[in-house]
Amino acid sequence: MKNYKIALIKGDGIGPEIIDEAVKVLDAVSSCCGFHFEYEEALMGGCAYDITGDPLPQETISASLRSDAVLFGAIGGEKWDSLPREKRPESGLLRFRKELGVYANLRPAVVYEELINASSLKPEIIKGVDIMVVRELIGGIYFGEPKGRTDDKGWNTMVYTRMEIERIAHQAFRIAQKRSKRVCSIDKANVLDVSQLWRDVVTEISEQYPDVELSHMYVDNAAMQLVLNPKQFDVMLTGNIFGDILSDEASMLCGSIGLLPSASVGEKIGVYEPIHGSAPDIAGQGIANPIATISSASMMLRYALGENVAADKIDSAIKRALKEGYRTKDLAQYDAKEVCSTSEMGSIIANYTAK
Ligand code: NAD
Repeated sequence: MKNYKIALIKGDGIGPEIIDEAVKVLDAVSSCCGFHFEYEEALMGGCAYDITGDPLPQETISASLRSDAVLFGAIGGEKWDSLPREKRPESGLLRFRKELGVYANLRPAVVYEELINASSLKPEIIKGVDIMVVRELIGGIYFGEPKGRTDDKGWNTMVYTRMEIERIAHQAFRIAQKRSKRVCSIDKANVLDVSQLWRDVVTEISEQYPDVELSHMYVDNAAMQLVLNPKQFDVMLTGNIFGDILSDEASMLCGSIGLLPSASVGEKIGVYEPIHGSAPDIAGQGIANPIATISSASMMLRYALGENVAADKIDSAIKRALKEGYRTKDLAQYDAKEVCSTSEMGSIIANYTAK
């Protein structure tokens, strides 16, 4: 029987609650698909700082590197907001992504038919939306040098090398090959030199993928098109800051932040996590929506372990739970037949997964 090693980083706030539900579902799917999970828990974020004085202990990096994939909850909270920047949970997360070399952030934005009324856009605009945002994660203006500030001046630098653009472009084209075979690359090539290089390199790489159609769009237009006609997009390929903004915009087409998964992948180990944070306002109340994390576990099966049948089973189980009217509190006003707790939702999905 195949055995997969999974590093579990529960983190802070609702992190432990939602990871426990994802584990419940993973165990249900593994027992019916003929493989086994071995979990190793590791600390990150505020809880790691409280115990070790470091939001990212070296042991967490080691545990992640000896695993097949990392399933991550969320980190952060007010309690740690006044710490020096390098001790804050968020610094630990940025350092973690850099250490693991996860340069590609994949964020699907899929509208569930059953929750079509949960979106702020009209049903006819969002029905059938299925977008994958492929965002470069460890380069661009968030990391570029020089950066700094004085009392009356602040500066950051957007830098991309050919190599960084090539590898993220390959990711986007490979993903598009498994979807509707369309990549829209987002840039600001009418103004930025770095975007001109981005556009040229993406165009060059596209020649290796003749089955995929490439288009280019300026980021300001893309922000508008996402709310005007989101169905035109299949894969959106973006740099770090543009992707940060556009993926949040795309995610809101879908209703609740508690639904949306993500994968951060690179050359080594991938990190699978919900797009939301640690939600300290609802932590410990048993009302967090675990679907984003369960869906991240499904992405882990698909992208890290190649267990597509198991991933399909989880995706179908989530749809079935929603179709049958089960809702956590965040979605209670949208055609709920029964409002359930975090743990009840996890059990319902685990149960449907195993069938
Ligand atoms: P958040 O995503 O934690 O919460 C925003 C709102 O969405 C809150 O009202 C929250 O209750 C709700 N929400 C989030 N997840 C939910 C879920 N699964 N079910 C139901 N409702 C949910 O963002 P925030 O409040 O801006 O940040 C809180 C903390 O999380 C901060 O310390 C922030 O730095 C951290 N954060 C961490 C990550 C991460 O770990 N990747 C990402 C974003 C924010």
